[in-house]
Amino acid sequence: MAVPFRRVSKMKKGMRRSHQALSVPGMITCPNCGELTLAHRVCGNCGYYKGRQVVEIKKAEDAE
Ligand SMILES: [Zn+2]
Repeated sequence: MAVPFRRVSKMKKGMRRSHQALSVPGMITCPNCGELTLAHRVCGNCGYYKGRQVVEIKKAEDAE
């Protein structure tokens, strides 16, 4: 139910919002290229996972 915001104390507001914290995703540095990447995922930079190439990475060639 809607309550006028001056009727909600700072403590009550804080208690309600105590569950709204964002969590940081598990990040690791890739052991192959050193790029920061999500843990337990194929590296988006070099395509390596578990020490071997899993996905081919197309190189962006815009140096022309
Ligand atoms: Zn990598």
